Amino acid sequence: MNTRRFVLGVFLAVFVMAGVTDAQQPKRRGRIVCSKTQVTDFARQVVGDRFEVVSILAPGQDPHLYEIKSGDARMVSAAVLCLDNGWHLEGKDWMRTLAANAGKPIASCIQGVSPLVLDEAGEQVNDPHAWFSPKNAAVYVRNIVQAVSKVDPAHAYEYKARGDLYTAQLRTLHNWITQQMSLIPSERRVLVTSHDAFNYFCQEYGMKAAAPAGWSTGSEAGAGVTPERRRQSVASIRKFNVPAIFVETSVNPKLILQIAEEAGVEVGGHLYSDSMGASGSAGETYMGMMRENVMTIVQALK
Ligand SMILES: [Zn+2]
Repeated sequence: MNTRRFVLGVFLAVFVMAGVTDAQQPKRRGRIVCSKTQVTDFARQVVGDRFEVVSILAPGQDPHLYEIKSGDARMVSAAVLCLDNGWHLEGKDWMRTLAANAGKPIASCIQGVSPLVLDEAGEQVNDPHAWFSPKNAAVYVRNIVQAVSKVDPAHAYEYKARGDLYTAQLRTLHNWITQQMSLIPSERRVLVTSHDAFNYFCQEYGMKAAAPAGWSTGSEAGAGVTPERRRQSVASIRKFNVPAIFVETSVNPKLILQIAEEAGVEVGGHLYSDSMGASGSAGETYMGMMRENVMTIVQALK
């Protein structure tokens, strides 16, 4: 046998085995468990590779209706920190329940946002869909920087540095959205979607919001489709001569398709609302989902 070839073969075998062994080493990083996809993306932007960041909700799942599954407790049991949105976006506070059951610390990313208060049938609720304003997204990021720095103070500099860069990107996003939305004539700035997820977006960018299902797809106070809300949605579409209405990726499209037919308008496309897009899609990050939503809205309404 050719000695040189044999030596090379042994060397390669050792190299490959070393590689396999290395890949099989248990990861020593701590885990951060988030309730939903947007919070997961913000957390990843802040922690880099210091922590493994996982989401309970998969892309396309609805946080209002979610019910705890058997594997969730196991996922949370390995967490050093849990993060939720807060203000009851997670229906019946399922993420807080998971964290409390496992004795894990939890931070709500929405803390410190100026709430839009919805008066729904006499009940006052803080609208939880605050991430739709990039300015509020910056508050989420700030809260995550604080929560992670508390768990891992040795790397606080890194978390703040990444948070600062991402916040600058959010400012750029806000300026770009403002410029894009200016392409829609003011009388056409009405956003009709299944449920009231876009109030912060509409407030920030001078649109009116109308949704037949109220602020939640679940059964909380002031939530769900009522004949009155449905009638108002159709009336708004006719009154403002809205050219198109939108389906949300995390909500069953049936209702919005019926309303489009009833009001005689087109469906302008799909918007990411309570969930980002699947991995590999254009909406897989917060920046991506906001960019794709804005382009869909502008093209349908301008
Ligand atoms: Zn929602």
